[in-house]
Amino acid sequence: MTRERIDHEFGFELRVCRWAERNWPPESDPVPAIVSRQLGTRGRRWDTIVLEVDPEGLARREAFGRERLDSDLLHVVRNAPAEWAYYRHALPHPGYPWRYVRESIHEADSREILDVRKRSNRVEIRRRFEYPDWVLRIVAIENKPDLDASAARALGDQLERDVALGLADEVWVATRATGERVEPALLEDLPVEVGILVVSGEGASARWHPRRLAPDEPGTRITERPAGGGHDRSAARFEYVSPNWKAEKRLAIAERAYERGWRSYVDTMRPDCRHFEGRIDSGALVPHCGAKDREQTAAECSGSCPEFAPEPPAWRTKGWPIEGGPGKGIRELLERRRERARARSEAGATPGSRR
Ligand code: SF4
Repeated sequence: MTRERIDHEFGFELRVCRWAERNWPPESDPVPAIVSRQLGTRGRRWDTIVLEVDPEGLARREAFGRERLDSDLLHVVRNAPAEWAYYRHALPHPGYPWRYVRESIHEADSREILDVRKRSNRVEIRRRFEYPDWVLRIVAIENKPDLDASAARALGDQLERDVALGLADEVWVATRATGERVEPALLEDLPVEVGILVVSGEGASARWHPRRLAPDEPGTRITERPAGGGHDRSAARFEYVSPNWKAEKRLAIAERAYERGWRSYVDTMRPDCRHFEGRIDSGALVPHCGAKDREQTAAECSGSCPEFAPEPPAWRTKGWPIEGGPGKGIRELLERRRERARARSEAGATPGSRR
């Protein structure tokens, strides 16, 4: 993986995702895992997310369909009773008006994941499937291919917030191997709780192991901190975050990761542009733009790109070179890979094995 080829953090991120899907955790036997990207809370998105999963629980999660369950749906299906009951008696008060709960009940009914009936003008519900505990651990990885001092400074503050909040079980920084005897990332001022993963070619190794955080315990959200350097004596501000809030957020993140995986990037890009190419690098299918002659970012590869040019219709009609044109072919290829990765995790197969 040459330096030019990983200029963009986006391409680096895809390679990290691909490596994690096959090999997580570093320097141990692989465990069943689902990998996704760009997920988190409203104020914080992690680049790469690794969900370590229980294969049996994951297979049972499948009964609820491939779409994610949002927090309102989770409230309903996780608390639904085994026997018919009036929904207001069966469910804990959600903290928001019951009419929204009724909407979620109807949605769950239409997705066929909850039994619903009307008796004496009352909506009654019954569980169809028990929602399983399928997420074992959540690992957040921040990708910085070129982790120099200024990148480390910018990242350090954010990582300190991640550690204080303790929403993930572990936090890592992934960076590109430099080949130096001591990786520069180790010399940067990053929180000691954060692991350092050095990526080289198709491999990666842990150069600093992270400390386990405590997602089951209360966390601290840093809302404001002194910005005036060493002489600034103003106080930082903090907020207490309950274990319940964290548990709900973790499950919401896991559900989104389950739905999206990491290959969904193509959904927001323009593989139907004639300049769009998918190139295999370090085992990952990485987008490449023929017009820019480099890897494009997901943000620039959009309908507003000035160089966007639609695929010629002939590409689609003549089955060139893959049936349906290259854009469609790339989408289908990524979808097939996503399905295979899911099947591997459900079967509990080692992610390193190829099927
Ligand atoms: S020209 Fe623009 S839209 Fe087309 S592949 Fe390149 S970045 Fe994407």
